[in-house]
Amino acid sequence: MFKPQYVYIEEQALDYDLGRQLRDRFLREKVPIKMLKSNRVTGLPTNNVVERQRQGKNSLVISVRRSLKFQTCKPSAHYQLPLVTGCMGNCEYCYLQTRFSKQPFTKIYVNIDKILDKAQWYIEEREGITIFEGAAVSDPIPVEEYTQALAKSIEFFAANERARFTFVTKYDDVDSLLKLSHNRHTRIRFSLNLPSIIKKYEHRTPSLAKRIAAAQKLLKHDYPLGFIIAPIILKHGWQKNYGALLDQLAENFKESSSQIVLEIISHRFTLKAKDIILALHPDTELPLDESDRKFKYGQFGYGKYVYPKEKIKTMEEFFQNKVAEMGDNWSIKYII
Ligand code: SF4
Repeated sequence: MFKPQYVYIEEQALDYDLGRQLRDRFLREKVPIKMLKSNRVTGLPTNNVVERQRQGKNSLVISVRRSLKFQTCKPSAHYQLPLVTGCMGNCEYCYLQTRFSKQPFTKIYVNIDKILDKAQWYIEEREGITIFEGAAVSDPIPVEEYTQALAKSIEFFAANERARFTFVTKYDDVDSLLKLSHNRHTRIRFSLNLPSIIKKYEHRTPSLAKRIAAAQKLLKHDYPLGFIIAPIILKHGWQKNYGALLDQLAENFKESSSQIVLEIISHRFTLKAKDIILALHPDTELPLDESDRKFKYGQFGYGKYVYPKEKIKTMEEFFQNKVAEMGDNWSIKYII
């Protein structure tokens, strides 16, 4: 759970019960509070990027969600559900660093009912089943105790036959979700990696064992599950190490009678991301040498550096063969 050292509250958030309750809670807990006229955090005492990131990662912003135009969200869903923005974690390869480098705060919203009303509007607009992603620009679990935004969303989607909900997390505070009636309409995915990679790059996140234990609890409560294995770093011994991770998953979830979906994502970077990573983590050991990679043009005019085709092909074959051995209840959604 995220325990902020600084709290920023947008004045308008106090028009909502949740905003007032959170203000009272942080006053009781003696966390310094600063009021904001708008939903932008201004007046930080430093412009130094590293110090700004450190402060941002320890700050919680309590805000009113204004834009209710949901972004599309391929490949995991049709739309993003904007419940939280930002994350307390500090993973060296996190793309939120690029997206929110100027405002690296975790922001929660007090008008969750309005956000869910808008989701209802999107469901009615489309034919068929509409899927919403609750973690496109955040990890929502560490702030769930403050908002119950996931709980409200899970119950909202449970009652709707034409919608499904999904979110991904690296965190293990899932107990408050166990008792909810979810109607199997929410798939919770855990982002996993090798213990050595978690230790080296995923600062302020729980261990692999804790993530697996949290997923087991959810499985016992009949939630559909998934795992994202990312980023796959293809360095010496990767087959043996990722093979061991898949064996560990097969063993821990052998009781599962429902389908567990895997998403497998190889490591990639843009030059903009590389610059930010090197500024924030100057001693990083992430493999960021363009000459080892192939340049791939991106959808929005910027390109990324991915592993060469032959390496990706070997990786695909490895995961396909290995997952086929794990049994019928395991499937791969995509490998990229
Ligand atoms: S836990 Fe996820 S969202 Fe948070 S910093 Fe790490 S990669 Fe980013």
